[in-house]
Amino acid sequence: MIPREAEVVIIGGGIIGSSVAYFLSQAKRKVVLLERGDMAGEASGANGAFVWTSTRRPGIDLDLALASIEIHKRLGEELDVDTEYRRPGGLLVIENEQDLPVMERFRKEREDAGFVLTMLDSREAREFEPLLSERIAGALYNPLDGGTNPFNLVLGLQRKAEQMGARVFHHTEVQGIRLEDNRVRGVITARGIVRADLVVNACGAWAPFIGEMVGIKIPIIPSAMEFVVTEQMPPVISHIIMGAAYVTGEYAKEEMIGHQGRFGCGLCVHQTVSGNILLGATWRFVGYDKRTSYEETRAIAREVVRLFPQLGSVCAIRSFVNFFPFTSDDLPILGYVEGIDGFVMAAGHCGHGICLGPISGKLISELICEGRTSIPIDELGLWRFSQSGRAPSPGRVESL
Ligand SMILES: Cc1cc2nc3c(=O)[nH]c(=O)nc-3n(C[C@H](O)[C@H](O)[C@H](O)COP(=O)(O)OP(=O)(O)OC[C@H]3O[C@@H](n4cnc5c(N)ncnc54)[C@H](O)[C@@H]3O)c2cc1C
Repeated sequence: MIPREAEVVIIGGGIIGSSVAYFLSQAKRKVVLLERGDMAGEASGANGAFVWTSTRRPGIDLDLALASIEIHKRLGEELDVDTEYRRPGGLLVIENEQDLPVMERFRKEREDAGFVLTMLDSREAREFEPLLSERIAGALYNPLDGGTNPFNLVLGLQRKAEQMGARVFHHTEVQGIRLEDNRVRGVITARGIVRADLVVNACGAWAPFIGEMVGIKIPIIPSAMEFVVTEQMPPVISHIIMGAAYVTGEYAKEEMIGHQGRFGCGLCVHQTVSGNILLGATWRFVGYDKRTSYEETRAIAREVVRLFPQLGSVCAIRSFVNFFPFTSDDLPILGYVEGIDGFVMAAGHCGHGICLGPISGKLISELICEGRTSIPIDELGLWRFSQSGRAPSPGRVESL
């Protein structure tokens, strides 16, 4: 039976909600986690599984990614589960000669911030990853990049949280939030009410619907991303791979929001521990439409085969679409929402939530338990999107 009260109710059982539940349980808080579907049933179970830093921007963006990697390293042991976190290093593959100066500037900017990426020429890059095409111009190498198994990770976090006392309920949708004088008092579900003075919104691309329950607009929109999965293969790809076009081409995400017919496409390749190769990716802004499209699957195949010709003969066994929670500055929304006491945001992790999940959970737990965080997160508040530069008040609707 669903409990009548909790210290903290977490809404959403993806990587972010599970990580918050884990760290709060470790801090001995009485936590209830409510998930309307299955464990890791949305973006946290349908992604590229990169734990990736190479394209993060110096500042809070990179600080969060680096801190999260430190937690990924030890989580398997803490959770008693093989999260399949491996760190073979990442390659940012540069296809065209004319992109080399841009990528060199990109490298230098990171080096100036103390974050070292190594420029490889075409031959060196192919020594690192022999299936790469001879026509590539080079690659940036980063030893910190890796991958994980997001199912094992989310399952491990939830199980360990439960062992420490958390109550986790799947197939339990939050339908409303109880407010009294702009103070959170609990959540309403079809299985009953859970009283709580603290509620964490960890609903990823669905976080705006939870925002509506307390009268605020949360500027997260679903970005539908498609990936293709191959048959299991012996190890043929050793690194985590992304195309440099993610850096050189802006993909005009803001413009694409209004153009439902257009999609962006960039190279992502990750061979998992089980041997399947995850190939990506395309993205478009089509609301909550999870259908894959032949056009996009073909675009992914073309992109991959151009840079890895020998993968042309590998069988694809399925493709999938899920939504990453897009924010216009590519950063998550973390922290209390001013004007609604007890309402905490932990959503909007864009294409980096698997990487950032562990640190996000830790920081939200620190915020709730200690009132301060080991990495300052003030700049990640919802207030940054408000036109007045102040946190939105309940009932006021901010424009995107
Ligand atoms: C195709 C694709 C590839 C990606 N690749 C990578 C990658 O390689 N590396 C990386 O770091 N990130 C990647 N991402 C991004 C990453 O997957 C997301 O940022 C991350 O999973 C978001 O986690 P979350 O817990 O916030 O959201 P979700 O996993 O979507 O979880 C939110 C949960 O909230 C639940 N929910 C919603 N409404 C309610 C309600 N009313 N009541 C109860 N529960 C509710 C949903 O059912 C859902 O399970 C990718 C995303 C996609 C789509």
